[in-house]
Parts: sequence; C-alpha cells; structure tokens
Amino acid sequence: MSDKKPVQRIVIAGGGTAGWMMASAIARTMGQTVDLTLVESEQIGTIGVGESTIPPLVNFNRILGIPEPEFMRATQATFKLGILFDNWKHDGDSYFHSFGLSGKDHWSAGFQHFWLNARERGHEQPYADYCLELVAAMQGKFAHLPEERMNYAYHVDATLYGRYLRKLAEADGCKRVEGKIARVELNDENGDIAALHLDGDRRIEGDMFVDCTGFRGLLIDGALHAGFEDWSHWLPNDSAIAVQAKHVGLPQPYTQAIAHDAGWQWRIPLQHRMGAGIVYTSGYLSRDEAYDRLMRSVGEPLIEPFDIKFKGGVRRRQWYRNCVAVGLSGGFVEPLEATTVHLIQRAVLRFIRLMPNGRVSERDAQEFNDQQRLDIEQIRDFVVLHYKATNRRDSPFWRHVANMPVPDSLQQKIELFRETGRVFRKYEELFAENSWVQVMMGQGIEPQSYHPIADKLRDDEVERLFQTIRDNIAQTVATLPEHHAYVARYCGAE
Ligand code: FAD
Repeated sequence: MSDKKPVQRIVIAGGGTAGWMMASAIARTMGQTVDLTLVESEQIGTIGVGESTIPPLVNFNRILGIPEPEFMRATQATFKLGILFDNWKHDGDSYFHSFGLSGKDHWSAGFQHFWLNARERGHEQPYADYCLELVAAMQGKFAHLPEERMNYAYHVDATLYGRYLRKLAEADGCKRVEGKIARVELNDENGDIAALHLDGDRRIEGDMFVDCTGFRGLLIDGALHAGFEDWSHWLPNDSAIAVQAKHVGLPQPYTQAIAHDAGWQWRIPLQHRMGAGIVYTSGYLSRDEAYDRLMRSVGEPLIEPFDIKFKGGVRRRQWYRNCVAVGLSGGFVEPLEATTVHLIQRAVLRFIRLMPNGRVSERDAQEFNDQQRLDIEQIRDFVVLHYKATNRRDSPFWRHVANMPVPDSLQQKIELFRETGRVFRKYEELFAENSWVQVMMGQGIEPQSYHPIADKLRDDEVERLFQTIRDNIAQTVATLPEHHAYVARYCGAE
C-alpha cells in the first residue's frame, strides 16, 4: 500500500444532484488521491425536480461503471427518446424533438434540404417520418439496438439518483457530513475560502470548494460575490409548481412539454409515477391560476405540490478563487429542454480534467469559465428559440416572447435557416443540426430555399431514397417491443 498522503482536500457544499454527481465522479476517478468531503443538510433538502435528461447521461453512468439495469431499478427510470411539444407553434399543433438523426445527410447538405426539395416536387410525407427514434417514440416502443442505433436518455427520480450516487461515492471514500452551513470563512490574506462553519461549532477546512448549494449559491455568491448575469429578458419564466402523480395510461418513452398561454407544463413518466409541473411567468399568470391548471390536468397527486421560484441567467465566474459552482448555483436556463443535469455533467467532467495539482491556477479557472459559459449560452439560445419562433400571438405572454429581441448568435441562426435551410453546429455544441432543424421547423420557421445539390436527384431517385428510408424505419420499429414491457423486463421486474 502506498503511504502517500492525500494531495488535496476537496469540500463539496450541498448534496443535490450536482453535489452527488460531483462527489461520485471525483471519488471514482481520483480515488484515494484526494481527501473528499460532502456537506449536506437534510433539514434544507434538495430542489426535488430534475427528472428528464438527455443522452450524454448514458455516458456519464458508463464512466462511473454503473450497470444500466441496476441504475434503472434504483431510480425507477424509463427510457426517453425525445420531447413531444404540444401547442408551441400554435394551439392544437404538435411536433417532436427527438434524439435521433433524420433521413440521410450528404456531406454538403443535411437531409432537410432534400426533404424541402422533395416537398416542392409534390412529396407529402412529413419530415417526422424519417427519424427512427421519433417514429418509435410515437408508437410507444423501445429497445437497445446493435451499434447503438437508438439514441436515448432517461427519465429518472432525481432524489433516488442522488441516493444511488451517494452510495457509490461513500463506497469510494467520500466522507458525508450532515449539517447546516452557517458561515463561510475566508482567508484574510488572499480572499480564498478557508473553511465552512457548520451548526454546532464544527469547522471543515479545504483547499478547493465546490458550491452545489443550489439557487442559494452560498459560497460562490454569498461569500465570494462572483456576480450573476440576468437573462430574464430572454427567459421570462420565473416560477414553477411541481407535483408527483399517479400514471394515467402507460409510461411513454418521451417527455411532454405542453404550452399554455403564459408558459408550459411538463409530464415526465417514471416507472412508478408521473412527474408533472407547470412553468409560468408570474407577471402573466397568478400562482393560484397556475396551481388550478396544473391540478386539473394531472392524475391523482401523490405528494403536496410545491412552488419553485427561479431566474434565468449565469454566474459571471463559475470558478472563482478556490471555489467552483456546479449545478443551480452556477446558472440556470429553464428546464424546457432538460439540460441542467447535463450542464452539471459537463462541469463535473471539466473540473476533473482541470483538477488542480495542489495549487489552483488562474489559467485553469479561466479555461473552465470560458468553456462552461459557451455551453450554457448555446443551450440558452436553443431554449429561447422555442419562444421566439412561434406563430402564437393569442396572449400577452406569447406576444411578448415573439417580439422580444434575442441574442445575435440566435438571430443569425434563425435568419440563416429561414433564408437557406442551413444550420451549423459550432464548437461541439450540445444540440447538433438535427435538433435545430426539428425545432425550427416544428416552431414554424419555413426555409425559403434549400441547397442546390438536392436538385441533382431525378424524381425517381428521390422517391426511391425516401421510400427506402421509410421502409427501413418501419421494419425496425415493427420489431421493437412496447416501451413499458421492455423496461419491466430489462429491470428484471418480469
Ligand atoms: P439542489 O437540489 O437545490 O441541492 C442543493 C443542496 O445544497 C441540498 O443538498 C441542500 O441541502 C444543500 N444546502 C443548501 N444550503 C445549505 C446549507 N446552508 N447547509 C448545508 N447544505 C445546504 N434539470 C434537468 O436536467 N431536467 C429536468 O427535467 C429539470 N427540471 C427542472 C424543473 C424546474 C422547475 C427547475 C427549477 C429545475 C429543473 N431542473 C431540471 C434542474 C434540476 O432541478 C437541477 O439540475 C438539479 O436538481 C440540481 O440541483 P442542485 O444539486 O444544483 O441543487
């Protein structure tokens, strides 16, 4: 056995999804080389939402060596193939943002160009018919396919996921301390955080601190005042009510996002229950009206509904001095595309890649902040798109968001697509071309043109190409089991 002393004391403040994802990943990766402590307060609790995820979480679990069926049993998870958006383009319309690719791209032009061209030639099949994940989702089907042909994520019970990760982290050497952080002590000489003071005169020293205290941002904001950039002029929703309810029907392999006249509602199907909630702008809808709407639209509630207040925006510096803010303490883009757990995952893996070797380097912090900011800005643009590009004008809320100025980066994407049908993924952006195309067309942006290469195909070639893609999808989906039956079998419940 090595008698090497731990090189660093890392203290994580907060034990929500962010805290335990960070703890389990550091403990598993760095093992005994760091002295890792997590402080959390049962009395304060966690935010209690965060159940819809996106595909990279599959990889995060793999990195931690988590067996998928065990994880799904422990968190009551189901599979997710995308999001069904109801009433977003206009009341009564639906479209699907799937995790899959549509049709067949040519290196010079995405499939949408060929589809737009075919439509002009009289082809009537919707764009949605050309995506395997989308067709499977709408038929309530799922299975793992060879060569990972089915791109998926999970719906999880966030509290159970936290508990599961806690077990892993503790088994890998993370110490958990129960207690309320009453004060953050700064080093008089350099302004870094020196220690956390807990109720009952306990003091926890560290070299590096991770702020996972949620919207409170107890360390990054309360102690270090790293500043916050408010994005509520682009993301006006500021309130939510969440509830858990009995299932109505079978759990489907997709999240539902149903727009209403001042925001939207979510439905997230887990194995044992439905997660549901309403998101709204308090300036346009009263809390009581939001509550009534939510409760009228869900099955029998299993818990008392609870309110959450939030503000869209980002911490100016997510890594500042010897503190890194991960999770809600680092910034928040409303949950429409279920991206916060992903931002946590990115921050966790990024932090481990930039793990200080004894001494915190300003350069590491700068790199972390630049990369993290780019991620959250790109996600912000994608979410704002759902509000800006809409035909809805039926309420003050929709008139406001349809008319609001948007970030230049988003305006460029929208106009380029509208004029040419083109969209490009930049700098490893989370949402690739396929996501942008589905949402831009789903929200009602009609490209005025397409790539000229699409004209090169003869009518019979277009027909054959499109028919082959549809036939392949139909044949594959016909072999898939029902999603709920597959989950039961996969998790060993049958
Ligand atoms: P929290 O869960 O708030 O955890 C904070 C921790 O800090 C707790 O353990 C708490 O006890 C501790 N703490 C705080 N103060 C102290 C103190 N003084 N002393 C000791 N401990 C303290 N994300 C998704 O990816 N998908 C979704 O579908 C999704 N839906 C959402 C819906 C809504 C309405 C909202 C608001 C958010 C949603 N999110 C979603 C985001 C999701 O909730 C967060 O990503 C996730 O739960 C992480 O939260 P956290 O760990 O940062 O904070």
